[in-house]
Amino acid sequence: MNKIHCLSIPVPYSMQTVNVYLIEGDCLTLIDTGTNTTESLEGLKLGLKELGYKISDVEQVILTHHHPDHSGLLEVFRDDALIIGHDRNIPYLIQEDSFLISYVHFFTNLARKLGVPEEFIKLMPRYDRKIPYSSKRKLTHTVTEGDSLTSLEGFTVIYTPGHATSHIALYRESDGLLFGGDLLLEKISSNPLLEPPLNGEIHRPRPLPQYNQSLKRIASMPIQQIYTGHGNPVVDVQSLVEYRLEKQQLRANKVYDLLKGSPLTAYEVCKEIFPKVYQRQLSLTMSETVGQLDYLEDLGKIKLEEREDGTLVYKPNEHSVSN
Ligand SMILES: [Zn+2]
Repeated sequence: MNKIHCLSIPVPYSMQTVNVYLIEGDCLTLIDTGTNTTESLEGLKLGLKELGYKISDVEQVILTHHHPDHSGLLEVFRDDALIIGHDRNIPYLIQEDSFLISYVHFFTNLARKLGVPEEFIKLMPRYDRKIPYSSKRKLTHTVTEGDSLTSLEGFTVIYTPGHATSHIALYRESDGLLFGGDLLLEKISSNPLLEPPLNGEIHRPRPLPQYNQSLKRIASMPIQQIYTGHGNPVVDVQSLVEYRLEKQQLRANKVYDLLKGSPLTAYEVCKEIFPKVYQRQLSLTMSETVGQLDYLEDLGKIKLEEREDGTLVYKPNEHSVSN
């Protein structure tokens, strides 16, 4: 069986490191990369050196998803390396001007609809040339649900959207090992993040409902161990999934109780449930809030109404208030 090594690489985010995995097999494979920063590059070089390898020895890179801590170093690998991931990585890896413009446009419009005040909208990042810490390099191969990888024997691709719509996990049935990316982390709950619609889609993805489905899916599989994107491996997958889903349900209940008090915009809900951090971490806390609202809306417990100025207000569905 292929030998697997975990390298912990420094990244400029709050979790401080990302795990990338080197797999020695017919082909020298790296799962995920670290950010496009000197610290990540040096960390990767050092980790490889300790195992007797150089960056130019890596023959293929498989991305669990497009976030820069997982894909940001793509530019350093040799020209003929295979670069493999889900096709929803593509716009984030190519970063054409038109994509970056529509990306900023989407989030500005969405923020207005969700009731975010103009003073915060002005401060939202504008990506003129590149998403921070990312690199620009194309995939050579795309994979999706059910694909087996000829260049990584024994593993099957599982499509696991939620944290990112580009998110995949790699499952080896013979011993129940899963490379899980950021799908389920031991210490922190993984954020379902808002993303713009892609490829001509009309509606934005609904990250929290997608994420819950992905969690339930892995809880139903005979997984023995998850090699995660940050922190230690997860062994008891079912209990941790149950715990995460329970916590999410509690947060959704809190949001629902707020809305029973009075109809609110997503921004107003966000301020109530994250009073201490919403200003500093507006995009993260808004993603989380919209996730809970999507979840309640999908259950039929709340509905949306548009005000005259175009902002959306969430209120309980009359039929479900008594529940
Ligand atoms: Zn991520």
